Amino acid sequence: MTEYAFAPPAAASAAISGSSQRFPIHRIYCVGRNYAEHVKEMGGEVGREPPVFFTKPADAVVGNDVAIPYPSRTSNLHHEIELVIAIGRGGHDIQKDRALEHVFGYAAGNDLTRRDLQAASKQKGQPWDTSKGFDHSAPLAAIRPVAQGHVSKGRIWLSVNGQVRQDSDLGEMIWSVPEVIAELSSLFELKPGDLIFTGTPSGVGALKPGDRIEGGIEGLESLRNTIVAV
Ligand code: MN
Repeated sequence: MTEYAFAPPAAASAAISGSSQRFPIHRIYCVGRNYAEHVKEMGGEVGREPPVFFTKPADAVVGNDVAIPYPSRTSNLHHEIELVIAIGRGGHDIQKDRALEHVFGYAAGNDLTRRDLQAASKQKGQPWDTSKGFDHSAPLAAIRPVAQGHVSKGRIWLSVNGQVRQDSDLGEMIWSVPEVIAELSSLFELKPGDLIFTGTPSGVGALKPGDRIEGGIEGLESLRNTIVAV
C-alpha cells in the first residue's frame, strides 16, 4: 500500500442524476470557439480550423446550488453556459463514428472566465490558465447517463437574475460531440472520468456578487449558482 507524506487531496467528483453514485473526475478539457455567433462576438473570424482546446483542474468543479466566491484579480468575470460530455470509456485516436460509445453522459456546465485576464493573455500570446483554470471555475449540474439518450440538439440557455442572456441551440455547434471526441483523443488519451466542456453560444457577459445564475440544456438538469462577495 502506498504511504503518502500527508493525506492525498480528496478525489474530485460530480453528481449523477437519478443515482447516489458520484462520477469521479479525471481531467477537464474545454473547447474554445464552437458557436459561430460567439466567435463573432469575441471579435474572431468564423472558420472551420481545428477546435481550440484548453484545460481546467479537476477540482475546479462545483455542484448545483453552490455559492461561488467572486474570484480575485478580475473585474470582468464572465459566464459561459456549455454542454459537457462525461467520458465513461477511455481511448486514443477514437474514430468519429465510434465516439459516442465512449460517452458516460451529459451535463450543463458553466465555463467561468476572467475575461480581462483572457484578453490580456490573448494580446501577449500567453496561456489561458489564469483566466480559465481558477478555483470554482467549472460549475456543473448532475450528469445524465446515456441510458436516457445522447444529446445533439436542443435549447441551451443561461439567465442572470431571471434575465435571459444566452439562448441558442446545440445544433449550432461548429464541432459536434463525435467530432470533438475524435479530435481531442488524437491529442490526449481520454480516460474514464474526463469531462469535456464543448464551448458556449453568444451572449456571454459579466457577473457581479449577488448575481443569481440559472442555465440549462433541454432534457438535462438545470444549473443554479450564486456569486458571492469574498
Ligand atoms: Mn468556454
